[in-house]
Amino acid sequence: MKRPSSEITINIHTKKFNDGKSQDTSNSVQLLEQRKSLPVYKVRKRILEEINKHATLIVIGETGSGKTTQIPHFIHNAQLAGNMMIGITQPRRVAAVTIAQRVAQEMHCTVGGTVGYCVRFEDSTSPATKLKFMTDGMLLREAMLDEHLKSYNVIILDEAHERTVNTDILFGIVKKAQVYRAEHRSLAPLKVIVMSATMDVDHFSNYFNKAPILYLEGRQYTVDIYHALKPQDDYCFACLVTIFQIHKEAPASEDILVFLTGQEEIESMCSTIRAILKDPQCKGPPMKVCVLYATLNPNKQLEVFNATAAGTRKVILSTNIAETSVTISGVKHVVDSGMVKARFYKPSTGLNMLRVQSISQAQAWQRAGRAGRQSNGACYRVYTKLEFDGMMKNTVPEIQRCGLSGVVLQLLAIGIDPVEFDLLDKPQLGSIIEAINLLQQLGAIDKNAETPILTDLGKKMAQFPLDPRFAKVILSASDFDCLEEVLSVVAVLSVDTIYVSGNSSKEAVTEARRKFMSPTGDIITYLNIYRCYSNTKNRKKWCFENYLNFWNLEYAHEVRTQLKDLCQSNNMRFSSSGSNHSKVIMAFLTGLFMNTAELQQNKQYITVATRQLTSIHPSSAMFGSLPPCVLYTEMVQTNKCYLRCVSQIDPGWLVQIIPNYAHLYTSSRNF
Ligand code: ADP
Ligand code: MG
Repeated sequence: MKRPSSEITINIHTKKFNDGKSQDTSNSVQLLEQRKSLPVYKVRKRILEEINKHATLIVIGETGSGKTTQIPHFIHNAQLAGNMMIGITQPRRVAAVTIAQRVAQEMHCTVGGTVGYCVRFEDSTSPATKLKFMTDGMLLREAMLDEHLKSYNVIILDEAHERTVNTDILFGIVKKAQVYRAEHRSLAPLKVIVMSATMDVDHFSNYFNKAPILYLEGRQYTVDIYHALKPQDDYCFACLVTIFQIHKEAPASEDILVFLTGQEEIESMCSTIRAILKDPQCKGPPMKVCVLYATLNPNKQLEVFNATAAGTRKVILSTNIAETSVTISGVKHVVDSGMVKARFYKPSTGLNMLRVQSISQAQAWQRAGRAGRQSNGACYRVYTKLEFDGMMKNTVPEIQRCGLSGVVLQLLAIGIDPVEFDLLDKPQLGSIIEAINLLQQLGAIDKNAETPILTDLGKKMAQFPLDPRFAKVILSASDFDCLEEVLSVVAVLSVDTIYVSGNSSKEAVTEARRKFMSPTGDIITYLNIYRCYSNTKNRKKWCFENYLNFWNLEYAHEVRTQLKDLCQSNNMRFSSSGSNHSKVIMAFLTGLFMNTAELQQNKQYITVATRQLTSIHPSSAMFGSLPPCVLYTEMVQTNKCYLRCVSQIDPGWLVQIIPNYAHLYTSSRNF
């Protein structure tokens, strides 16, 4: 990344910075004062009346009006949920955790008492918990055990505008549960509240049988918006310049939140900023740079919420995970790259892929809103007003752009027919059928039944909070005597990366990694790293010396423990294949057989199932060697299409492991 120059024309100089200190909310009197100043507080009686009157209510209010933190609290105080719980879903884990902490603080209790949270791989609730903040994914898992959600009398589906697949499915599930509970007098009725910042309200209201809509007036603070005057070639560079312009001019108490697209970009910018700060010519107060992205170790994620010492500015480099729900106190400036890394599904490849793309206008407003949580703020968009006008108004719901095999598996586990299910926006029938076919190939769905039903294997697969393909890999591992190894690799794959990118010399990094590298590829390389890591005493030091990400490895370790527990409860046989690495790769092939590619004469690879031309990513241990047939876990598309996490396979294994599929391979036709 280039050093900032003064030539950039982002229109931020017109702004005068006030010396506004953000409010300290640590003390309970101030906390109450602050709560009372929120727009929802003034209308709490009205809100409670409406909730009381209607089975379903839609609440629309601008970001920062107090919906998430206050409404559950009001309902609890008014005892509207009786003896049961109030469940509040959030699309993101970090939001569920931090909001629970905030609400617990406001209610003068500790997390895990009246207020608790439940997120993947972590449950802080106790029998005393009445307000349960949870990810939408966790409530969906609970629905697998009880589709009528009887532990809750009130369910709040928050941040509905995000339209995650899980929230969309929950709309259907709560609607169904509500009808069922209304028809069965022995069960308490279920209240449903849908909360959102912006959305196509009529569409929602119609879906919920014309449910009433409550609009909350007013937002708390104003946010000034500044656009770039000219289109920028390099949004990272433009963000960097903007950060340092703010840094030079604004008081140290004003923190900066920057929206970027992904871990690598964030880590790289973090190193660049730190390097610039060392330059004696760099003006401004001391600065602390923090990073925030979904695959960061959860404890590390929470660090960005800590206040910095007085006189030090905090700069948070985040993906869109800080876009909604969370409040990072002290943030007065938002720098918006205008870009996001979004999941999308490409039917031609049959895979979920990640792509960096422009955000929607709705997302841009959400991002700007992060600057006005505790006082007036400013948002600097490194794109022009014209570019903003050209953005899509709303984000396409995830359910219409993602592969659905995980969703279909979960619906079937709840006992819902995925084709008939009443969804707000239906995905194309073709995507559902494709997902059913994949699950059939994985052995999760009975091939002979008229309507799709889960096999025993499918039921077990649904218990794992993983992509069905990886659940299948784990469940087949015992057959290959390598459950220990497979658990380690799947755990490592569930974090974004275990490598550290930064300013270190390329040679030093390559040298350090060479000792782990397996000629068979990345799966065994990851296994080697995980094994060394878990046998090391001083893990932090060891990771530092080997250019490995300590926090992500620690998280992988926790994930492994959880997965191991699930295997134990399924009475799976734990065994190790020792140095027989082929068995581990074979186990992966049982779930990922569609992720295979064959070498072409032009040294490129062609994917077997979808005939797409692609290459091995330079970060792979396989880069440079050209085995005839490979297995990969992920395909990414930047300017070119790449395979990531690549391992060599013997085409003969295909015939052995997936006889019905092997005919697709040119190399296996000789067998
Ligand atoms: P909404 O859901 O309507 O966007 P929230 O209930 O999340 O609003 O937050 C309302 C306000 O409460 C925020 O604008 C902020 O001032 C304050 N707040 C919420 N969470 C925190 C927190 N963790 N630390 C400090 N202030 C917070
Ligand atoms: Mg909210």
